[in-house]
Amino acid sequence: MTIFLNGCPLRCLYCHNPDTFLMRDGEPVEVDEILRRIRRYRNVFKATGGGITLSGGEVLMQPAFAGRILAGAKAMGIHTCIDTSGYLGQHASDEMLGNIDLVLLDVKSGDEKTYKQVTGRELAPTIAFGDRLAAKGIETWVRFVLVPGLTDDPQNVENVARIVERWRPVVSRVEVLPFHQMGTDKWDALKLEYKLRDTRPPEPELVESTRDIFRAHGFTVH
Ligand code: SF4
Repeated sequence: MTIFLNGCPLRCLYCHNPDTFLMRDGEPVEVDEILRRIRRYRNVFKATGGGITLSGGEVLMQPAFAGRILAGAKAMGIHTCIDTSGYLGQHASDEMLGNIDLVLLDVKSGDEKTYKQVTGRELAPTIAFGDRLAAKGIETWVRFVLVPGLTDDPQNVENVARIVERWRPVVSRVEVLPFHQMGTDKWDALKLEYKLRDTRPPEPELVESTRDIFRAHGFTVH
């Protein structure tokens, strides 16, 4: 079960959920209501090996709320996951991290300049958060969105791989996600300027050569 939280400090040019940029656009829900819904699926999670994922937006915009959901799910014996850019990693308390089984960590670029261009923010907090996850031994899947002409420079990818090296013991997979145009309608509906309108999805060869860069570092790549 994926729960999308509204509010994000980043403005990724390729975001496919721009309707989650602002917290006020979301629908207010009580923690207890969410936990009630989660409880209903407990047996399904058990039978399928599933669990919950808090996504967004950025889950760490609402750390107290997210922390209570994660603690409640853990208390029910349910697998917990957060999907984050790590930019607000400092908002995650040690207690909260203790209730997380898996982190999907987006590393959107390996160099500062491209990171800023893609997200409007800095790369350093993501690296610091990854270092913390590694120190705590929390399983992590790293995700990298491949955008032709924006993030696909092999040197940029190599720099992402070198950052991920720091976390090797906890990184069980790296996912290279090909850019797609599925968010275009949302950008238009929100009357936001969508700068990647003319960008095409990467060719399969580019996706594979990018995955090979991570494979050369010994990672399991999807
Ligand atoms: S971090 Fe995620 S939700 Fe936030 S702008 Fe980037 S892609 Fe969109």
